[in-house]
Amino acid sequence: MKIARSRAELDALLSSYRAAGQRIGFVPTMGALHEGHLSLVRLARENADLVGVSIFVNPTQFAPHEDFDAYPRDEARDLAMLEAEGADFVFLPRADELYEGGFESAVKPGAAAQGLESDFRPHFFGGVVNVVYRLFEAVKPDAAIFGEKDFQQLQVIAEMVKAQGLPITIIGAPIARDDYGLALSSRNAYLSASELSIARMLNRVLFDTAAAIRGGQTEEEACAAAAERLLAEGFRSVDYVAVRWGRVLGAAWLGKTRLIDNVPIF
Ligand code: AMP
Repeated sequence: MKIARSRAELDALLSSYRAAGQRIGFVPTMGALHEGHLSLVRLARENADLVGVSIFVNPTQFAPHEDFDAYPRDEARDLAMLEAEGADFVFLPRADELYEGGFESAVKPGAAAQGLESDFRPHFFGGVVNVVYRLFEAVKPDAAIFGEKDFQQLQVIAEMVKAQGLPITIIGAPIARDDYGLALSSRNAYLSASELSIARMLNRVLFDTAAAIRGGQTEEEACAAAAERLLAEGFRSVDYVAVRWGRVLGAAWLGKTRLIDNVPIF
């Protein structure tokens, strides 16, 4: 597994593959890797000749009051996991090079970014499309894999790629869950034991909400009932439970930790 910490190193390691017409599959991450990330690496492998992963905790998608400094970082562990998974290269850009010339973004999020996450994290998708566009410019992948865990983000990226006319196939990966259905997330590391057992109710509430909608309850009623139930289960507050893209999506807080998840209705 090759490692690039600069654009020059990245170009050097990719040039012979690019010249040979090898298809590059790319998985952007913020590190603190778990089985969900590794499932994306495997899906990239199925769709490309060469698989690369980036690890970069992107400052522009965090608001000043959010957890940028506290975000878990363990480069050695991440690299060992990727090596074991058979990734071909890892790109670990430095912020000053990736954002050389300033934080101004060449691209803006489109309609998919409206509502849901943006109502609570207004800076978020601007930062995400900014960094993903820069990473795409550097890696020039043929395919890029994003998790359905961040379903709105997947839509925002697909829309951005289409709007920019980038020759990149965006592939969505199913949500990796623990034995209790909790969507794996780097932020789960923040949870205490008692918070973890409450966190495991989020997916159950969303699955039940999807079932209630299938059973004929209105989306509005079912989502309102879900928010009430999450509070009753012990969540501190609920940012939203809503239906879009045929899915029930939710975001809720346990202490200082914000969790998101979503499930299909049909
Ligand atoms: P992150 O490192 O949290 O920014 O996530 C990097 C990529 O992994 C994103 O495309 C996420 O949607 C995806 N991802 C994170 N958690 C999961 C999960 N539990 N299942 C599937 N994909 C995930």
